[in-house]
Amino acid sequence: MQTLIRRKASILRSWLPLSREFTTSRKDYFFTSVAPEVCESGLYGFELLKSPRGFRRFVDEAIERSSELVSYISRTPPSMEIVRAMDEISDTVCSVVDSAELCRNTHPDKEFVEEANKACMRIQEYLHIINTDHNLYNAVKRAERDGNLDTDEAKRAANSLRVDFEKGGIHLSSDKLERVNQLNIDIAHMCREFGDNIMADPGTVDVFPESRIPKHMRGRLRPIYRSISGSSKGSLESGGEMKERGFQITTDPGTLSSVLQWVADDEVRRQSYIQGNSVPLANLAVLDKLIAARHELAQIQIIGHKSFAEFAVSSNLASSPEVVMSFLLELSRIVKPQADKEFYSIAEFKRRNCNERAVDLEPWDEAYYTGIMKSSAYNLDSTIVSSYFPLSQCIEGLKILVQSLFGVTFRSIPFAHGESWHHDVLKIALHHPDEGDLGYLYLDLYSRMGKYPGCAHFAIKGGRQISETEYQLPVCCGSVCNFSGPSGSSTARLNHWEVETLFHEFGHALHSLLSRTDYQHFSGTRVVHDLAETPSNLFEYYAWDYRVLSTFARHYSTGEVIPEKLVESMKGARKMFAATEMQRQVFYSLIDQTLFGEQLSTKDSVSVVADLKRRFTSWKHVDGTHWHTRFNHLLNYGAGYYSYLYAKCFAATIWQKVCEQDPLSLETGATLRSKLLRHGGAKDPSSLLKDLAGDSILRYHNGGVMPDLTCLCEEMELENSSNNRLRKWRVRLQVIWAKKLLCRQNLAFQKKKIQFSLKAREIYLVQDGDFVTASSSSKRWLNVHCFWKFEAVNCSSVFI
Ligand SMILES: [Zn+2]
Repeated sequence: MQTLIRRKASILRSWLPLSREFTTSRKDYFFTSVAPEVCESGLYGFELLKSPRGFRRFVDEAIERSSELVSYISRTPPSMEIVRAMDEISDTVCSVVDSAELCRNTHPDKEFVEEANKACMRIQEYLHIINTDHNLYNAVKRAERDGNLDTDEAKRAANSLRVDFEKGGIHLSSDKLERVNQLNIDIAHMCREFGDNIMADPGTVDVFPESRIPKHMRGRLRPIYRSISGSSKGSLESGGEMKERGFQITTDPGTLSSVLQWVADDEVRRQSYIQGNSVPLANLAVLDKLIAARHELAQIQIIGHKSFAEFAVSSNLASSPEVVMSFLLELSRIVKPQADKEFYSIAEFKRRNCNERAVDLEPWDEAYYTGIMKSSAYNLDSTIVSSYFPLSQCIEGLKILVQSLFGVTFRSIPFAHGESWHHDVLKIALHHPDEGDLGYLYLDLYSRMGKYPGCAHFAIKGGRQISETEYQLPVCCGSVCNFSGPSGSSTARLNHWEVETLFHEFGHALHSLLSRTDYQHFSGTRVVHDLAETPSNLFEYYAWDYRVLSTFARHYSTGEVIPEKLVESMKGARKMFAATEMQRQVFYSLIDQTLFGEQLSTKDSVSVVADLKRRFTSWKHVDGTHWHTRFNHLLNYGAGYYSYLYAKCFAATIWQKVCEQDPLSLETGATLRSKLLRHGGAKDPSSLLKDLAGDSILRYHNGGVMPDLTCLCEEMELENSSNNRLRKWRVRLQVIWAKKLLCRQNLAFQKKKIQFSLKAREIYLVQDGDFVTASSSSKRWLNVHCFWKFEAVNCSSVFI
């Protein structure tokens, strides 16, 4: 929803990979909030939230304070003060919206959740009132034009506020504006309904006998019984009747992915796949209504948009859906040959495994067979991997990361009474020896009943300059994850996917906590959608780099550092089906763009998705299924799911150009902090990216910005034809240049045969048929610098 009080990226949810580990609710906990009851407070430190009903007063006071500011603005001449007061309105309202959102997603107390829901709806309605307030709009317009705004950030804030007013429909006639408000309220209700339906109708499959379920999964499934005739092994007798034991599989996304990965029985996987991908049926109608409402919202604007996608993307880096589609189609083309190869290798493996030449590869086979293929190729055992990642050590890893990169430490903060919502939650301050506390972070890591099932980052308070000497510190709840708790007395251990998720969410948290913007409107993750996931994707690299892992990944009982060979195997396994995963993400992004793109009246969402699956993936569509009715990114990221892929590309480039050489140095950290993280949304995002990683990180296309694909393709070893042509041309030039220079400089080895060969992205120099040995970092250095090195410096320094 477009609002003046822009909350584009206050809540960021993780993307949807295929396989997620089974999570379950936990009974005990690893971290204790040994909170001495320091003082009375309310939830998240807000005085008013001492009880669920406090949300009502919280909303009342926010409305009261905002109304005061609205009237203050109307009598204030054009100046910086208008921008500051507007930001304070935004701060006041966002504190309510963001706390209510966090509460409804994580609070175990039903009453709190209900009150948070009501608060959300009430404050959203109030937002529509101020977003269509002409006095405010005119004040902002005058401030932008005549306010002598003396900082770039203030100018950018005034501009952004004006544009947001206009996108909210301020110019529309009163009846149309009324309609916009109604549509926004309806959309908020539909989004809630969509999410509620997913929770209410996860689908179930009954499986008999119990032997069809692997033993390690049984404890997490509901046992069921049925009467059987005659006697049977394993049956139990009750009241003279023979009962057979089985299990009921609840096909929520987490359980479904575990079933698809671990259950050997084809038929159980097939039924679970179909059931899980055919619920909730009610969401088909909700989605149709949502698409229609968003389409109308886009068309009703003064500058009518062809589609909601156009409306939503226009303020992003991409600027238009055409740019997004070009990017997605290019990535789809690049990834297809490798994804097809991977598909055929899985199909062949299945045939050999089943000993049947004619058997087809089905969508419910993917996770199961790729899991076996990965572990047999790399001899990987997930329990061995997770034994090196006890959660305490992973948190230690985050501490080492911030200490090495930014010179800051974690300071554990005791909770005030009533501040926390569950005894698992931790509160830490990021503390800098010179700058003091930089911000506060709640960590809510474990799965539990009723908690938002995915992973997400919630901003609670944005940072902002309150006065010349005072800065409002950012507060966020990073890492709302769903890790399984420890069992019995053993320590909670994460599988590597969870470690990666932890680092991803921590990347969002660092974006929030390290930002130092004047206005909270731009604080941390409050950036354009297609930049928001870049820091988090960048920090995922830290979860894969051995130099980083070796600082914290230690065996839970022996303390042994994770062996490098094991990490290499993990990386190898990850690469095995990387193109398939990438193809899936392109497919998801295409669904999102198409459903919210120009409307084809003849097509329903089920056939759109089926058609895209056939055209853009190597896998078949199963008739009757409608996976997308659980794709809740369609709500929060409407027409913006492609942002994850933008982020993948940007992060790959930043990692290679800025971090890879020395990922844990203060210098690397200073670059990341000063050129990216501290600015939040306060600077033009393409300038930020170019300043950080060089002009080549992005491309301009059709009036918008697309990420360059070179680094991602090289990392995934994908052929990127246009870049390959360019590189071959460059290498040819280098060869000619090098030969000339060698002759001119009359170097000792000038008579030796010098060859260049091209493999992936690196240029290997060959002398007399031998590869010049170089570490991977020096090879990269060679690639970047050899061109001018030949020209300016002694050649021998390059390849001897
Ligand atoms: Zn994220």
